[in-house]
Amino acid sequence: MKHLGLEDKVVLVTGGNRGIGAAIVSLLEELGTQVAYTYRSEPNVESGALAIQADVTDPAAMAAAAETAEEKLGPIYGVVANAGMTRDNFFPKLAIDDWDAVIETNLKGIYNTLIPVIPKMYERREGSVICISSISGERGNIGQTNYAASKAGAIGLTKSLALEAARYGVRANAVAPGFIETEMTKAIPDKVKEKITAEIPFRRFGKPEEVAWAAVFLLSPIASSYVTGTVLQVNGAHHT
Ligand code: NDP
Repeated sequence: MKHLGLEDKVVLVTGGNRGIGAAIVSLLEELGTQVAYTYRSEPNVESGALAIQADVTDPAAMAAAAETAEEKLGPIYGVVANAGMTRDNFFPKLAIDDWDAVIETNLKGIYNTLIPVIPKMYERREGSVICISSISGERGNIGQTNYAASKAGAIGLTKSLALEAARYGVRANAVAPGFIETEMTKAIPDKVKEKITAEIPFRRFGKPEEVAWAAVFLLSPIASSYVTGTVLQVNGAHHT
C-alpha cells in the first residue's frame, strides 16, 4: 500500500478552527498526522487536534504556539499558514486601519508563523511550508486592493523562501484557491455570487476539502518531494 509519508509527522495549521484551515486539519488527522492548529476566537470542539489560541499578528504568541506544538507533539515537519481575513472596500474609501489589519494578518502573520519554525527545519534538513494565497493575489479583485496585495505578497514570500530553503532540503509552496464556500465568502451578496459563479468554468464555488487535498499533496514528502516554489491553483478553471 502506498502512503503520503505524513503519518506521525507534526504539522501546524494557523486558523485551523474553521473553513479551509479546519478542512486541512481534519484531512491530516485522517492521514494519521499529528496536528496542532491555532485559532483566534473559538476552538473547533469537533476536532481532536491540539488547539492553541494564538493571534497570528502577535509574534510572541506565535513563537509560543510553535513551542507548545513541539513540546506536546514533537518536531514540526510542516506548516500551513492559512489564517486570513478580508476588509473589502473600493480603494478611495479604504481606511488605513483596514489596509493595516489585512496586511498585518495575511502577510506579516505568515512571517510571525514561520520565523520561529524555519531555522529548526533548516537544522533538521526537512520541512514543508504551505502559504494559502488566493486567486485575488494573482489576478486582482475589485474591492480587494489590500487583500490582493497581501496575497500577492504571500506568493513572493513563498517563492523567495523556496529558493533560500532548497539547500536545507526544505520546500515552500503556495496554494491559490479560487472562490471557496466558507464564512469568508458567505458575506458576498447573492447577486454578486451568481455573477462570480457564471464566470467560473466549473459553475460552482469550491469546497474547503478540495483545497485541503492540494495542501496535503504539497505537504507530502513523498507526493511532492521535487515540488517547491510553486503556486497550486484550486479554482475550477477560474484562471486569469
Ligand atoms: P474563514 O473566514 O472561514 O476562516 C478564517 C480563519 O483565519 C479562521 O480560522 C480565523 O480564526 C483565522 N484568523 C483570521 N485572523 C486571524 C488572526 N489574526 N489570528 C489567528 N487566526 C486568524 O476563511 P477561509 O477558511 O475561507 O480562509 C482561509 C484562508 O484561505 C485565508 O487565508 C483566506 O484568505 C484564504 N482564501 C479563502 C478563499 C475563499 O474563497 N474562502 C479564497 C482564497 C483564499 P477565528 O475563527 O478564530 O477568527
